[in-house]
Amino acid sequence: MKIRSLRIACTTLDPARFPNSPWAEIAVAGRSNVGKSSVLNTLFERKNYARISKDPGKTRTINFYAVNDRFYLVDLPGYGFARISAETRTQWTNVIYAYLEKRPTLAGVVQLIDSRHEPSKEDVGMIERLAASGRSFIIVFTKADKISRSDRPRAIRDFNESLSGVARLVQLPLEHSGAAASGAPAGVVEAPALFFSAKTDEGKEDLWRWIAERI
Ligand code: GDP
Repeated sequence: MKIRSLRIACTTLDPARFPNSPWAEIAVAGRSNVGKSSVLNTLFERKNYARISKDPGKTRTINFYAVNDRFYLVDLPGYGFARISAETRTQWTNVIYAYLEKRPTLAGVVQLIDSRHEPSKEDVGMIERLAASGRSFIIVFTKADKISRSDRPRAIRDFNESLSGVARLVQLPLEHSGAAASGAPAGVVEAPALFFSAKTDEGKEDLWRWIAERI
């Protein structure tokens, strides 16, 4: 995707202040420190547009980035940050879930997972909600430069086990996944997954392609 224009249209946690616009939105979600700012900066081809925070609790708003005066990339607050109160944590989670489930212009969700770690309880909770919501979503494994190509099919298999049947990931491009052609069992949502690195730009074009198909 060629970025011809980019601006921050709105930063807020208050749904009443979300942009009132017919443009499609693609949301980006993930736990704090997953590499969300780095993914956004890579997509935007900017060094520091989305903040790379030293304090992983800092991103407390939903940030709407207007891209090419055509659609929004929506940066959701990173969840799972340990040093916040249970009350704040619940408030953020509720805002994120309400956005994901109710926003009419939401056209797709990019769910980030740190490829070096097991999915957290909150990651699995997010994916369960996404699968139940009927939204189109893609799983993006971040920091892929830290995991060898030969380990990736196993990482996907292990991940699918931790989802215990709500959804099943199929690695993109499809030829990487021996299971791609078999289809998901009834009641299981099949979601594409790709590996992404802000260091090497791996996955950038495939992710833009997925986004472009939905806006
Ligand atoms: P955020 O809190 O989710 O916005 O995460 P950041 O983008 O701030 O990244 C968190 C940490 O992970 C930083 O130290 C980054 O340098 C590092 N990081 C992010 N993306 C990558 C990546 O693709 N490869 C590697 N090796 N490190 C990354």
